[in-house]
Amino acid sequence: MDKIQKYEKAGKIAAEALAYGKKLIKQKSYLLDVTKKIEDYINKKAEIAFPIQISMDNVAAHFYPDHDDEIIFEDQVCKLDVGVHVDGFVGDNAVTVDLSGKHTKLVKASREALDNAIKVVKAGVQVGEIGKVIQDTITGYGFAPIRNLSGHGLDEYNVHTPPNIPNTATGDTTTLEEGDVVAIEPFASTGAGIVIETSNPTLFQLVEPKPVRDRTTRKILQQIINYNNLPFAKRWLVNDFPLFKVNFALKRMLDKDIISSFPPLADKAKGIVSQAEYTVVVEKNGCRILTKV
Ligand code: MN
Ligand code: MN
Repeated sequence: MDKIQKYEKAGKIAAEALAYGKKLIKQKSYLLDVTKKIEDYINKKAEIAFPIQISMDNVAAHFYPDHDDEIIFEDQVCKLDVGVHVDGFVGDNAVTVDLSGKHTKLVKASREALDNAIKVVKAGVQVGEIGKVIQDTITGYGFAPIRNLSGHGLDEYNVHTPPNIPNTATGDTTTLEEGDVVAIEPFASTGAGIVIETSNPTLFQLVEPKPVRDRTTRKILQQIINYNNLPFAKRWLVNDFPLFKVNFALKRMLDKDIISSFPPLADKAKGIVSQAEYTVVVEKNGCRILTKV
């Protein structure tokens, strides 16, 4: 398989996992259960590029359950974000499931913004033009695009690389080139359109290994290194190490900048948020969606 075939395979499995997960998000299901099922599904076919996230209501991204989570789906607006990799080549996609039935327009706004955005993607397009299309679509529905979240490039074992693909008309003149693989992900909010970091991160990523004295912390760091610089969840470590050791090790490694954390990101005005995302490959006269079943 060459690089693009690996992207195609990862994209297809990411789309299948998203469709599978979407069906599992229903009233009375447990968030933790659904998360585990989707990750098991991916693990049977390829590898997880980042912990699959289900961020609810005013939380736009980076929500992931701990091992003892008890959240039950009721009437939340759920953003399911799934990433799969094949030999490091990533497919990243997301969908919104509105369990309340009250946010149909909000869900449509981010979905249509994504559809409109990919219509203008082709070699030579400026990323600021894509942002303008996204902004115009979402504001046309009366909502705010989230301006400090954006789409991104993808690279081998790297989930976020340049170029940044804004969700607003930033005027950024950076152009996309033929063969670029990028994720485009509009977020629409009923609130501020700005997200802020909240507390209790459950997602982390290796920054730089450094010597650590405690023996278990060393073992945990070794496991983290095995994640190939991709994001990981605290829950994954709790499967293999005692909880108090994991807590100790994470704190120690955060203090020493060995790892960084990704706290949940919530709309500043507590607005409800929807998201849609595809991974696409840029072509001469358009683009091709890779995260398609
Ligand atoms: Mn994503
Ligand atoms: Mn993404």
